[in-house]
Amino acid sequence: MNAFVYNAHAARVVFGAGSLQHLEREIELLGARRALVLSTPGHRMQAEQVAQHLGTKAAGVFAGAVMHVPIEAAREARAEAGRLRADCAIALGGGSTVGLGKAIALESGLPIVAIPTTYAGSEMTPIYGITEAGLKKTGKDAKVLPRTVIYDPELSAGLPVALSVTSGMNAMAHAAEGLYAQDRNPIMSLMAEEGLAAMARALPGIVSDPADIEARSQALYGAWLCGTVLGNVGMALHHKLCHTLGGSFNLPHAECHTVVLPHAVAYNTSAAPEAMARIARAIGADDAAGGLYDLARENGAPVALRDLGMKEADLDRAADIAVSNPYWNPRPIERTAIRALLQDAWRGSPPP
Ligand code: NAD
Repeated sequence: MNAFVYNAHAARVVFGAGSLQHLEREIELLGARRALVLSTPGHRMQAEQVAQHLGTKAAGVFAGAVMHVPIEAAREARAEAGRLRADCAIALGGGSTVGLGKAIALESGLPIVAIPTTYAGSEMTPIYGITEAGLKKTGKDAKVLPRTVIYDPELSAGLPVALSVTSGMNAMAHAAEGLYAQDRNPIMSLMAEEGLAAMARALPGIVSDPADIEARSQALYGAWLCGTVLGNVGMALHHKLCHTLGGSFNLPHAECHTVVLPHAVAYNTSAAPEAMARIARAIGADDAAGGLYDLARENGAPVALRDLGMKEADLDRAADIAVSNPYWNPRPIERTAIRALLQDAWRGSPPP
């Protein structure tokens, strides 16, 4: 066994259908009395219901979360938290809302209670991102790691099927790359394999019945495990490609992860045979890359970058950006092979 460092992040997890009912108790356990509830504009009503339910323990609602946390939204939310003398932030929503909570916590140290409604996994990481003048700056700070996470599968029952599948594949990308991370360790690899298996079980169930609470529970459980992996070990080529395509070409986050993942995994196949065997085993496939591609396609997810609005003429520039300042990757990053990978992903052909 290779030597490793395992650094557990403390977070209290309250899991189960209906667990939102424990929110007040969880706030009390943090010693907080004035919670600011955060959401996207589309989920204002849900946020207001939560605030109403908390009664005097809610200081207010800020429904201004936006994808990729623009600095203007972060400033507005920080000011609102200060004005209301909030002593904790409740992030009710997906990665964008949790990201806004993190932007507040980064400056103020306010504890976050995250209530995730997608499978992106941000609630389990000390990673934050804030976008200023079109550039997303990311960093790591223990202050932004939510203190408590409430996983209530009933809240994700309304997540549209298409977004559920791509969000699930987004989670699986964290686990897949975690299995071949340079700083991987046996505990994170266990979580990664179990996270992949839970999500692979969940997605067909959600597609056939979006309100199936057991399938939604499996998906949230998978998201938790995959998000934990993302927060604990380094990510590689796949995440670099997605940051490039999302950051410089504005492709949608979860869809982009879904399309790129089988191709990034295929690129690394010969360099990380043990990880490939574990991915394939977890998802019940003969081959990791092909199995991930089939999982996406069979559940109705996009498999081509051109269907996400990527222009073929931009592939050269995308390859240039993706090979500059590369993340550590098990197989060396070669411009010609990356350009070919992007062409395959753009066309939507099965991974080689
Ligand atoms: P998101 O939070 O923007 O949500 C996607 C869409 O789903 C939004 O329109 C939202 O309103 C809607 N939605 C969310 N929950 C819903 C529900 N239950 N029912 C119906 N609609 C619902 O996107 P996301 O994919 O969750 O997260 C992506 C963002 O999170 C990106 O900015 C990404 O960079 C960031 N992220 C950060 C980390 C980290 O560790 N810092 C990890 C993963 C993702």
